[in-house]
Amino acid sequence: MKAIISDIHGNLEALRAVLDDISHQKIDEGIYCLGDVIGYGPNPRECIDLVMECKLVLLGNHDQGALFDPDGFNPAAKRAIMWTRDQLEQPAEARQSREKRWEFLADRPRSFKEGGNLYVHGSARNPLNEYVFPEDIYNQRKMEKIFTLVERYCFQGHTHVPGIFTESLQFLTPDDVNHHYRLDGRKTLCNVGSVGQPRDLDPRACYVLYDDESIRYRRVEYDFEVTIRKIYDVPDLDNFLGDRLREGR
Ligand code: ZN
Repeated sequence: MKAIISDIHGNLEALRAVLDDISHQKIDEGIYCLGDVIGYGPNPRECIDLVMECKLVLLGNHDQGALFDPDGFNPAAKRAIMWTRDQLEQPAEARQSREKRWEFLADRPRSFKEGGNLYVHGSARNPLNEYVFPEDIYNQRKMEKIFTLVERYCFQGHTHVPGIFTESLQFLTPDDVNHHYRLDGRKTLCNVGSVGQPRDLDPRACYVLYDDESIRYRRVEYDFEVTIRKIYDVPDLDNFLGDRLREGR
């Protein structure tokens, strides 16, 4: 069994709570992280340091935004990325750990294939940037194209909205499947949700456990008021980035 996490976004309290929950599961195939370790949240350095222990960490669009010029982001996201980049450049930090983090980010793959499964941040078609939203089940062309690129199961993040997409173009929320989805070999897309900024109106951190036969959604409570206070304290991080954590939107 493996744990699959995504979209941490510099939220250390959520990441710690999830890693603690994972430590109580029977994980023998490691932790896979689908990207966006940083961006939006107040603890980018600490989150990078923690995910370095994961077996796989993909590049997300916010991670790429910190590495290169942040194109295609809204003003609040862009400001957060510039602030994040600054945090990674902090002169107070030891040069060695600073360089180690930049190298780690720069080395991240955009997708990963294993045993018929695909792991991406966004979508099989555009691993870094394409969103696959629940309402895309009504966009048959888009979904068919994406499904042709998937051999069996595809795990993705990016939208921060957890759920299962079937090839018959159904979208099932974790609640719809009682947090447990049985896999039967038919092509399936699984959005694993977001650790650090859930957007499905459930403020708890989200991740999945995957064991070849099934996907289990885990929701983990954490003290988001601590994260919110930290965000309020940083002028470059919009207060809204904190407020949304309370409602999971
Ligand atoms: Zn994200």
